[in-house]
Amino acid sequence: MPDRTLQLDCLGSGNAFSNGQYWSSYLLEGRVLLDCPPQTLVHLRKLDVGARDLDLVLLSHQHSDHMLGIDLLLLEAAMGETRVGDGTLPIIGPPGIYDRARAILGEAPRLGDRDDPHVPWSEQTDGTSVQVGDITVECVEVDHFPDFTALGYRVHIDGKTVAYTGDTRLCDAVYTLAEGADLLIAECGGGPPHMNWDDIFTLREALPATTEMLVTHYDRRRAPDVSGTAGLTLAEDFARYEV
Ligand SMILES: [Zn+2]
Ligand SMILES: [Zn+2]
Repeated sequence: MPDRTLQLDCLGSGNAFSNGQYWSSYLLEGRVLLDCPPQTLVHLRKLDVGARDLDLVLLSHQHSDHMLGIDLLLLEAAMGETRVGDGTLPIIGPPGIYDRARAILGEAPRLGDRDDPHVPWSEQTDGTSVQVGDITVECVEVDHFPDFTALGYRVHIDGKTVAYTGDTRLCDAVYTLAEGADLLIAECGGGPPHMNWDDIFTLREALPATTEMLVTHYDRRRAPDVSGTAGLTLAEDFARYEV
């Protein structure tokens, strides 16, 4: 039986400076959140998805355009219409991510302890693998800022693999993330400590045709025309993709 098609919703495609795009974030299969920028809760609710519907939140690193929405997502998880209640909403990120969340929220009780049974925080490092229900996540450290660890993720669901770079320079870890993936969601912040458009085309040439690429975290005003490049798509806010 062929593998089932996965659904990927773009909650935002822009980088930290926005340029009219929302900050980069994705919802996979309506239940795995890839990064949590400021607009996250609004865009989840527009899709009729709430905190209770999420199986997993993956945070790539501590920059504000990737996690500043965690405050109101945790508020929803604790007290909103779609509160987690007796359920569980695991949050995975690199070392230091919980302390960054605490710095954002202060002493607000909606951020519980690291081992809160309903919203447990798990800090992962390069090469680890985490199983959450039917979802397997491989964590790969990428090269972004020297001051803290940033992770990319390989998410395996129903026989498909979706890889997400978070923010990174082009480095060996990006190829590790992409290996055998059905889709690589690749950032293009425009220059160090990010990938640029040359890097995106280099990657596209290096990866097999079986690995589609979706470019995110980019400035649409400076984006090249990629319509002639097979397997390369520029993400659009609110677009829905099939994997
Ligand atoms: Zn960023
Ligand atoms: Zn960053």
